[in-house]
Amino acid sequence: MSVITRLDATQSDFDERLDALLAWESVSDANVAGVVSDILREVKARGDDALVEYTNRFDRRQVASVDELVIKPEQLHAALHSISGEQRDALQVAAERIRQYHQHQRQESWQYTEADGTVLGQQITAMERVGLYVPGGKASYPSSVLMNAIPAKVAGVEQLTMVVPAPDGELSPMVLAAAAIAGVDRVITIGGAQAVAALAYGTNTITRVDKIVGPGNIYVATAKRAVFGQVAIDMIAGPSEILVVCDGKTDPDWIAMDLFSQAEHDEQAQAILVSPDEEFLNKVEAAIERLLPGLERTAIAATSLKNRGALIKVANIEQALEVSNRIAPEHLELSVEDPQALLPAVRHAGAIFMGRYTPEALGDYCAGPNHVLPTSGTARFSSPLGVYDFQKRSSIIQCSAQGASTLGKVASVLARSESLEAHARSAEYRIID
Ligand code: NAD
Repeated sequence: MSVITRLDATQSDFDERLDALLAWESVSDANVAGVVSDILREVKARGDDALVEYTNRFDRRQVASVDELVIKPEQLHAALHSISGEQRDALQVAAERIRQYHQHQRQESWQYTEADGTVLGQQITAMERVGLYVPGGKASYPSSVLMNAIPAKVAGVEQLTMVVPAPDGELSPMVLAAAAIAGVDRVITIGGAQAVAALAYGTNTITRVDKIVGPGNIYVATAKRAVFGQVAIDMIAGPSEILVVCDGKTDPDWIAMDLFSQAEHDEQAQAILVSPDEEFLNKVEAAIERLLPGLERTAIAATSLKNRGALIKVANIEQALEVSNRIAPEHLELSVEDPQALLPAVRHAGAIFMGRYTPEALGDYCAGPNHVLPTSGTARFSSPLGVYDFQKRSSIIQCSAQGASTLGKVASVLARSESLEAHARSAEYRIID
């Protein structure tokens, strides 16, 4: 039984087989929706009391008030000093690189003046308050803290509130240390739908936010969907994906490990290699078989590769890019000699990893660009999380007397055609000739 599906883009059934491979069950569950809507309603109505009850129940805590769930600044500081020097340095280097990269994304306000003195423009402002959800149930993700918090801070968000569940009162010091390094303003150890509700509606202790970002399990995702409109949200991420385009000249072990780096995330993750070199595909398949048992998460990676992975043979590199554009992968590795030459042909991808020395793993942690990326083909219309996701635009219009006169004539005609008399007169009052 083969470890991974083999496909050939030159065969007539390829489109059909690729579609079947890309299909995945979006997790939605009527039971969960009911539980989440109860939690949202209760937290909205009863605030802190409901928050304490749900936290005690779902995270097996025994607290009497939300104050006990708030992490004090000295605890953040202590976490920073409880981790090893090596870990602290790694977090600091990653944070600094992420900050540097995201500084380039800041949008600036602009204005221009027309011949009659009218000024038009766009003013950029930061959101005031943002909530960051950090998953804490089954594993801890310090890199998620950096990737979500730093762009918000670079944008100029004043109050960044992080929520992270602490099941049985346990919390990862790395997550707290990352929060300290990223400049998070407040950390509260709550999670699930109740944390999303508290951020969206506010309670006596928790100030409501303007936007909620960060990944989480089905309870978190369902709650984020439900509060959208009341607050902004980032996205609802699907399973993670990597697509590697390789000319056949990279070490097959490197490529196998790059595929594993995605497959080990979860059983629904998708890892695909596309190459025109059949012999190379055979070598990568052999490397997968040889290296897979040596991973920590062999069973998860094996299931992911078996159900959703593929090695795809194409006629040439051009066809490899056609396949890639069709998939619009979250992560695209161009493991070829001259990736810059291929770049103009890449139409849709969340992040593009260029050349043989750029594995996705470096981008996940510390290269600088964001690791929160569009999944499930949504790179066709959306972009990585960035500073711009925490900035807003306001239009600026400042008419001169002459400008108001010229525009007033146009506006009054259009207003009357819409039967809006007050609009028309408001414009006409300012006509001077
Ligand atoms: P989590 O913090 O998302 O969820 C834990 C919370 O779920 C608990 O605090 C509890 O409130 C709630 N919950 C659990 N069981 C419940 C129940 N029966 N009823 C009501 N509420 C309940 O942590 P997790 O569960 O470990 O999930 C983490 C998720 O985040 C995973 O799905 C992982 O794949 C995802 N993740 C995604 C990315 C990404 O970039 N896409 C990154 C990191 C993590």
